[in-house]
Amino acid sequence: MDIPQSENNEFPPLSFRDFSTSFAHLSDNELRLSYWIFRMMNNEWLTTILIKLAELALKWNLPIRWAVKPTIFRVFCGGETIFESLQAVEKLGVNQIGAILDYSVEGQDKEIEFGKTETEIVRIIQLAKENKNIPVSCIKVSGIVSNSLLEKLSSKKHLNESEKREAANWQLRFERICQAAFDNDVPLYVDAEESWVQDAIDELVETMMARYNKERAIIFQTIQMFRHDRLEYYRKLIERGRLEGFKIGMKIVRGAYLDKENRRAKEMGYPTPINPTKQATDDFYNAALALSVDNIDWVEICAGTHNEESSMLLTELMAQKGLQNNHPHIYFSQLYGMSDYMSFNLAASGYNVSKYLPYGPVKATLPYLMRRAKENSAISGHMGKEYTMIVNERKRRRQESFEVEEIKS
Ligand SMILES: Cc1cc2nc3c(=O)[nH]c(=O)nc-3n(C[C@H](O)[C@H](O)[C@H](O)COP(=O)(O)OP(=O)(O)OC[C@H]3O[C@@H](n4cnc5c(N)ncnc54)[C@H](O)[C@@H]3O)c2cc1C
Repeated sequence: MDIPQSENNEFPPLSFRDFSTSFAHLSDNELRLSYWIFRMMNNEWLTTILIKLAELALKWNLPIRWAVKPTIFRVFCGGETIFESLQAVEKLGVNQIGAILDYSVEGQDKEIEFGKTETEIVRIIQLAKENKNIPVSCIKVSGIVSNSLLEKLSSKKHLNESEKREAANWQLRFERICQAAFDNDVPLYVDAEESWVQDAIDELVETMMARYNKERAIIFQTIQMFRHDRLEYYRKLIERGRLEGFKIGMKIVRGAYLDKENRRAKEMGYPTPINPTKQATDDFYNAALALSVDNIDWVEICAGTHNEESSMLLTELMAQKGLQNNHPHIYFSQLYGMSDYMSFNLAASGYNVSKYLPYGPVKATLPYLMRRAKENSAISGHMGKEYTMIVNERKRRRQESFEVEEIKS
């Protein structure tokens, strides 16, 4: 389906069905690997078994790098280090897609590890300043503070002396990272996490926004639209930003921890913060896009989604407002290895596109890879489209090479 464009738009029309553009960056071998990985994930029981095996490998410290690195890791991650990931960065860059280097080390609980994560993120910010293919940086706050402290801060419980020290260290770490983002003029996306740790993150991110976003959005908050309170939160934040004179940077996602959220609410006997249906989440998501476009003079957004309808809607809202496809306040973003047919076609039509490019030691990325496996499997029902696109592209390439052979003979 072609999407209407605003008048005087210099860019070619968008179609999500141009397969040659969608997979131009993948060699035949790479496409074959993606095909086998997505085919495997299409099998519910196999995915379930492999996820269980990965959990056991993590628990018992089993050596599985040899099996993971050349397969699923290669499809969804850039490499084990920044240096190793630069090849993927360049490949995306050639196709006008920015890479968001995502240091995927999760669930740490030691000061020394928090320090390492801080150093790594500042390194990414400095690299981004020099490399036009890395337009922004990102951080998962639980990489620089323990979850238990975030939870305690969010529930406003009394902190003991050592927790107070930990909280002060965390705030200083986060401030230093924000300062580096500001000094290097590289926006920082702060990921959203579970609702029971999110209040503490929100509070600190808002303080940093008010400090660093006077001229443009440098610090970006993330809202998860599977929460029924987030649209109102966003609306109020825009009002506050306008009143107090700071710009709003917002990554808008649907939310990753649906089962965990609902299970905890049930077990602990409080009302779930999650919408009752997928449709309600979709409606909130799309309303957040409309709110953003209505306030585009004041907000900068990253629409982090693989949902085709929402992405199309955003292009339509832009066209209705007369915004150029490459309006600097609007980014479309997907995860590396996922929904390439959207990313590459959006970029070919001039929209600003970026992809989260996770990297880190193979073992540390396992929780991330397990989430991708679940999300892309028949378990979530998300699988079909991605797999079908790859199958279609393989068919198209086979047909193309057959025709070339025919002409030669
Ligand atoms: C660039 C990028 C950055 C991201 N950053 C974050 C982040 O910081 N924090 C985070 O939590 N996630 C993040 N995500 C993941 C994101 O939240 C989603 O899990 C994922 O993108 C799937 O949603 P979708 O919009 O792509 O597509 P869809 O497949 O259309 O939506 C699936 C989503 O809908 C929601 N949903 C499904 N079923 C129901 C139901 N029964 N009731 C209510 N809601 C339902 C869930 O949120 C589910 O993940 C990010 C994703 C991208 C692409």
